[in-house]
Amino acid sequence: MHEAAVAQSIFDTVMAEAQKQKGKPTKAKITCGTFDAVNEEILAFAFSVIAKDTVAKDMKIGVEQKPVMALCRHCKKEFKFDVTSPSCVHCDSNSYNILPDPPLILEQIIFETD
Ligand SMILES: [Zn+2]
Repeated sequence: MHEAAVAQSIFDTVMAEAQKQKGKPTKAKITCGTFDAVNEEILAFAFSVIAKDTVAKDMKIGVEQKPVMALCRHCKKEFKFDVTSPSCVHCDSNSYNILPDPPLILEQIIFETD
């Protein structure tokens, strides 16, 4: 249950921020990689269970999946890897390295201000 651990960690951060901001958290945005992707629905469910009876209970969690990037060995530029056309978009070379998956990051927490 990868999502449950992620939900718990988001919740901990949100609650710590909510204390500082003195506001009601309404939304959070996370980004993750492709190979270690988080399922948005499972995450939302796991979060709702953890956040039950807290200020964060009505929060929406958005997940943005980052594309797989590759580094061309020929022109040394990075490009967005596409399985349907797996070659460098800059120089059309077929010699490249797939870059490591970006880590899961909590990008933003939005608070309601009234
Ligand atoms: Zn290239």
